[in-house]
Amino acid sequence: MDTVLLLTPTEPDGTLPRAALEALSAARAVGESVWAGLFGARTGKAVAALSGAGVARVLSTEAEALAEPRYGSDVVAATALVRASGATVIVAPALSRVARFAAGMAERLSGRIDTHVTQLSSRGGLSATRWYYRQRIEATLVRAERPWVLLVDPGAFPLASPSGGAAPQLEEVPVEIGPELRRTRVAGLRAPAAGEQTIRPDAKTLFVAGAGWTKKQADGAPHPERAGELILGFLRASGASLGTSKSLTDQAGEGQKVLEFMSHLNQVGQTGSTPRHSRGLSTCCHGEEPHVVGWRFIRERRAVNLDPGCGWARGKADVLYVADAFAVMEKLNALLAAKK
Ligand SMILES: Cc1cc2nc3c(=O)[nH]c(=O)nc-3n(C[C@H](O)[C@H](O)[C@H](O)COP(=O)(O)OP(=O)(O)OC[C@H]3O[C@@H](n4cnc5c(N)ncnc54)[C@H](O)[C@@H]3O)c2cc1C
Repeated sequence: MDTVLLLTPTEPDGTLPRAALEALSAARAVGESVWAGLFGARTGKAVAALSGAGVARVLSTEAEALAEPRYGSDVVAATALVRASGATVIVAPALSRVARFAAGMAERLSGRIDTHVTQLSSRGGLSATRWYYRQRIEATLVRAERPWVLLVDPGAFPLASPSGGAAPQLEEVPVEIGPELRRTRVAGLRAPAAGEQTIRPDAKTLFVAGAGWTKKQADGAPHPERAGELILGFLRASGASLGTSKSLTDQAGEGQKVLEFMSHLNQVGQTGSTPRHSRGLSTCCHGEEPHVVGWRFIRERRAVNLDPGCGWARGKADVLYVADAFAVMEKLNALLAAKK
């Protein structure tokens, strides 16, 4: 029987990242006994959060040098925690901080690693499920080698809810982080030029704006300014996250006058992202396969398009409104404003 360790860094204030609570759900689904390994400048609030969360033992490494995410120090702390635990399966949230050191850690432990895990099962032995080829092929993996490190994708598991039970046994795991491990420094954070944060992974709804928003409309002229007002108005009122199609993203790259708050980071699809919101509303987007493949995990799909023969009509959306998205969004924004 495998011993499962939830391995995660803590936030700067010592709390657990949201994705770690999802990884905890994944670990609890397959581990008879789940332990946790925490590291960061502070871990106190995370330890408290794990009390009554079905975790039997918590190993913690606190050091000021772990305040900054950095391969050199993170890999040393994480490897020490896994060694001290003796765990054979390590479940960790696929945060960028974790993804940076996890493969190096697996190598130091002479273990194996799999990433982008979306399901774990213990039926007939531990197995992990992930997608390949841009979410087109689903594979279930089993491995004899241990330790086995599994990075679970954020958004794939529910947040762990308290399960009662005793407070976990706490153990400090000290690590030596010398100056040679602290050479890399975080100089600052640089976000994409977009003036407003439009990518909201925690939002319930994904709102996709396609290239139609910038095309000539019924009066023979394009209306990108009005399009921008309607889209941003909806995002502000609804809290939805903004996705886009490749055609719209590429127009921005080619210097055309388009929606300035869009960047390539908003692109959904084969060469873009695969978001995990529970609902999606697509507007002015044709719904071609390379775009819709990025909707794999969106459970309820609706689209607004002038063309009744668009891709969404061919079984890709639950509901297609054959309508002018300018008119629909104007009405929707008015309804949202009236609700406030
Ligand atoms: C290798 C490869 C990879 C690709 N990867 C991706 C990817 O990752 N993501 C992606 O999105 N695409 C990708 N594509 C491109 C994809 O095939 C499509 O070209 C793209 O998704 C089309 O974008 P669109 O639907 O926004 O634009 P269009 O095809 O131009 O469609 C615009 C739509 O807007 C509608 N419309 C216009 N005005 C209105 C209005 N007033 N109201 C309602 N509807 C209106 C039109 O009816 C039309 O259907 C890829 C293609 C290739 C070859």
